[in-house]
Amino acid sequence: MIPLARAVLGTEEEAAILEVLRSGQLSLGPRVPAFEQAFAARVGAPHASAVSSGTAALHLALRAVGVADGDEVVTSPFSFVASANAVLFERARPVFADIDPRTLNLDPEAAAAAVTERTRAILPVHIFGYPADLPAFERMDLPIVEDACEALGAVHADGVKVGGRGHPAAFGFYPNKQMTTGEGGMLTLGSAEHKERVDSERNQGRAPDMGWLDHDRLGFNYRLTDLASALGLVQLQRLDGMLEARARVAGWYREALAGFEELELPCEDAGGDVRGWFVFVVQLPRHAGRDDTIRALSARGIPSKPYMPAIHLMSFYRERFGHREGEFPVCEDVAARSVALPFFPEMTEGQVAEVAEALDSVLRTRLASPTT
Ligand SMILES: *Cc1c(COP(=O)(O)O)cnc(C)c1O
Repeated sequence: MIPLARAVLGTEEEAAILEVLRSGQLSLGPRVPAFEQAFAARVGAPHASAVSSGTAALHLALRAVGVADGDEVVTSPFSFVASANAVLFERARPVFADIDPRTLNLDPEAAAAAVTERTRAILPVHIFGYPADLPAFERMDLPIVEDACEALGAVHADGVKVGGRGHPAAFGFYPNKQMTTGEGGMLTLGSAEHKERVDSERNQGRAPDMGWLDHDRLGFNYRLTDLASALGLVQLQRLDGMLEARARVAGWYREALAGFEELELPCEDAGGDVRGWFVFVVQLPRHAGRDDTIRALSARGIPSKPYMPAIHLMSFYRERFGHREGEFPVCEDVAARSVALPFFPEMTEGQVAEVAEALDSVLRTRLASPTT
């Protein structure tokens, strides 16, 4: 059976993990800074801090730019829930604004309209690996935190890699991401001050020169292990190959699904922006019935999932903030029709054809009798 996602893991990863195991230093060892330096170099960032997850990276990034109690952070409702939750960790409020219908990223004009005197930061998400319009957000003159958890390998039109603009940018290494450390994350940073603060806060608030005797601020345990960092170093060496493979699989999907006019495919790169391929998400025709389509695909042995549901319409956000349908029409329309198809670097052209044929046949049946 074709999986929805699958990491590329080989004997190099096994050897790297074994080496750390045998060294006896499983955490706070040399692989962590080695991984940080290699990652920073890969995206062109001055600094990087390895942490235990993408969510932890977002949390520490928001603290680094000064987000605190009662502040507002303008962000996208079309994202994984972690980008909004991280704002709530600091008792600040995520203020959503609608998305651009082509890129599915936070719309800079809508974001600008949502800014108030309480706005402390803008949190754009590079959704599905497509670069958010950072130059437009940079003109808004507010601190920026980037959710780059889906965008490793993406490049902005001006040639700067996502994560390399100097704003705190969060990456995640869950096994479905472009590279994995099992669980893990990385925060790329433009300033040495941010790096020092983040390194301290991920490690219980310990100052770098203070040993374990004193802790001069509140901290967390958001450390990444040496085991995970060793895995990350090997995955970084494979990254170019894995990104190329993802782009190739996306190309096969485009060809295989080109005949289906009513199906909207991921937007093509435009204006010099380059996507870092993460998922292959199609938007179904409005009357196809997303959940029934997913069930019909599953009955044919093809996994797929609604991706992503709108954050403001999740029960926790509805209850806490009184959100309801109709607030962000573009996001809601896209969220109701989006389906992630199986997508991973080692996917074969034959597997892509199998998924495409199943989708084609399910949709033709459903569109012929949409009420069944
Ligand atoms: C994966 C992801 C995260 C969170 O990463 P974790 O490592 O699972 O904490 C945050 N935001 C987006 C958009 C993601 O896709």
